[in-house]
This record gives sequence, C-alpha cells and structure tokens, in this order.
Amino acid sequence: MNFLAQELAELIRQEGPISISRYMALCLGHPSHGYYMKQDPFGADGDFTTAPEISQIFGELIGIWAASVWQAMGEPASIRLVELGPGRGTLMQDMLRAARALPGFREALSVHLVETSPVLRERQRETLAGSSVAPQWHDRVEQALEGPAIVVANEFLDALPLDQFVRTPEGWRERLVGWGGEGRFVFGLSAEPDHSLSIAAPLGSVLEQPAAALEAVAAVAHHVAAEGGAGLFIDYGPARSGFGDTLQALKHHAFVDVLAEPGDADLTVHVDFARMALAGLAAGAAAHGAVTQRDFLLALGLQQRLESLSRRATPAQAETLASGAERLVETGATAMGELFKVSVVADPKLPLLPGFDLHRLPEQG
Ligand code: SAH
Repeated sequence: MNFLAQELAELIRQEGPISISRYMALCLGHPSHGYYMKQDPFGADGDFTTAPEISQIFGELIGIWAASVWQAMGEPASIRLVELGPGRGTLMQDMLRAARALPGFREALSVHLVETSPVLRERQRETLAGSSVAPQWHDRVEQALEGPAIVVANEFLDALPLDQFVRTPEGWRERLVGWGGEGRFVFGLSAEPDHSLSIAAPLGSVLEQPAAALEAVAAVAHHVAAEGGAGLFIDYGPARSGFGDTLQALKHHAFVDVLAEPGDADLTVHVDFARMALAGLAAGAAAHGAVTQRDFLLALGLQQRLESLSRRATPAQAETLASGAERLVETGATAMGELFKVSVVADPKLPLLPGFDLHRLPEQG
C-alpha cells in the first residue's frame, strides 16, 4: 500500500466511509501524495496525452479564437488571458505565439494561470520563460478574474471532484468509498437516502453531482457577464445529460481500477456539458455549444493552418503535423474529435463567437 492509501485507510477507520468527491480531491490534490502534486503526468512516458501536447495547431487556433473575442469586445486596452489547469503550459505558449499576429492584442493582454500543483507551476514557468508576457499564478478561479477576461480551460473540469448517488428502492443513496480490509478499498452506499434529490430514474441508475465544475463554470460566467469576455471549456463528455458512473482512472495510457492506487493514477470524470451550459445561463451569461472538438477546430481553420505550416516544414515534420492534426479531429465515439466537446459562456452583449455558428437552422425556401 502506498502512503496515501495508508492515510485514507486511517481516515476511513476514524470517520467512516468518505464521499467520492473527498476521495477524488485527496487522490488528485493531497499536498504531498496527490497525483498532480508530485509529478508531471503528461506525454508518451506519462499517463495520458492532451490535445496541446499532440499538436501546436490546437493552441494556435485557440489563440486566434481568443484574439477574435478581444476584437468582438471592441479591443479593450487591457485584458486578462486566464487559463485554468494549464498542465505543462503548452497551450498558453502556442496561444501567445499565435497572438503575435495581432500586435494590439499582445500588448493588451496579461497572463493568469490557475494551478494548484507546484510541480506543474514550475513546468509552466519553464515553458513560458521565452514568451514576452510574465504569467501570474492563482490557486482558485475567482482569484484570477478581474476586469475583462478571456478564460480557457482544456481538460480542467474533468479533474474536479464530484459526488455520486445510486437509485435504490428507498431513494437516492450516496456512493461512498470504504475500507474493505485486506489492503483494499470498496464502494458502498450511505445508510440513509438523500431526501433532497427527487429525480426519477430506474433502480441502479447513477447520478453524478459535479458541484466543483458547476461552480467553476458559474464563476467564469458570472464574471464575463459583468465585466466582459468569454470562457472556453474543452473536455470529454456528452453534449446531453444522462445517468451513469463516469469516474475513471488512467495510468500509463491504460484504464486501471479507480480504488487500486490512490494518488498514483489520474482520476477523471466525464463533463456534462448540458448542465455546464445551464450553470452559465443561471449566472447571467450566454452559453454556446457544446460542439464537437472536430467541428470547432475545422471551423477555426485547422486545415488552412496545417497547410501553411506544412509548406515551411521538412517532409518528416509535415508528416508529424498532419498526423497530429488528424488525431485532434478524428471521428469515432472514443476518438478526440468526437468525444471532446467545446462550449463557451460569454458576455451576452457579444455576437456569436467563432466556432459556434455551426448550428444555425438551414435557410428556408
Ligand atoms: N490543460 C492542460 C492540463 C490538463 S490536466 C492540457 O490540456 O494539457 C489538469 C490540470 O488541472 C493540471 O494542470 C492540474 O494540475 C490542474 N488542476 C487539477 N485540479 C485543479 C484545481 N482544483 N485547481 C487548479 N488546477 C487544478
């Protein structure tokens, strides 16, 4: 048993079974043994690879998207470019490079990163050392928001803890993590149903309550509605809400048992984009999407960007660029282009933003 497993077992012995959100929060964010707190998990040698690590085109297109939001806002003289959960800093690096194409935007922006992991903060510092903008770090979303802001978050919401409830004949009982003895953790259910939940569902249905993700989206939505700007969220998950247990653990690019290696495997959940949009609307923002990552990146000009980069590349580089771009927009239920969705919460005074005008009704007649 690793250190975190011993600590969790002791906690459960003292306090009883713990909620899924507490288990997730400790596995990912425990100050010394949490998954993100002790390592850089990205890349081929790590546990998973994200879109910005696959292709520079991802961040460049999002940089161009951010520049067009700034233009749609009337080119304010100062704007915060905020990234939530910046990983290695690659997305921000690519965004800033693309933003050079619009000098006014480059001069107006300041960079704010919301990151809890000291290891990844250091990594972000190294990555961004060569760019002309010095980033500022924050622990929490609210702390990073001040004045007009453009917020981007790739694979951030999926890392935020959520709670789960299971439909039983008595009502919705909370799913908990207990200690099964013999070195293992087990799932169980709360003794009492949660009477505040009155949603109808077949017996055995799992309901997820992503409070932290909804709060993060609401905080961004509330801010941009009041101060101007937009927040872009990219993640995996369904466009429509439904029941189901989406908690998963990844290690060395393979799925592993969620309870087996606390703090040594990445834990994530699928993002319910329909609920995120409702949280944005309830906070006073306009909500667009979700559209698939494929539709979004193609609408922003992925193909044209690939062609222009390829013209200046060696044949080997051109091949890497093409396969990276292809992976970003690949179709198939579990492929990035389709599983990943993109949604935005925006100041309602802004026009429909680039990448989200895909669902206009066909013209009559
Ligand atoms: N956006 C990056 C990294 C995604 S992984 C990419 O696309 O490559 C999730 C990121 O969110 C990591 O940087 C992790 O340290 C950070 N993170 C996880 N939980 C967080 C929290 N509660 N607050 C702030 N950052 C968090």
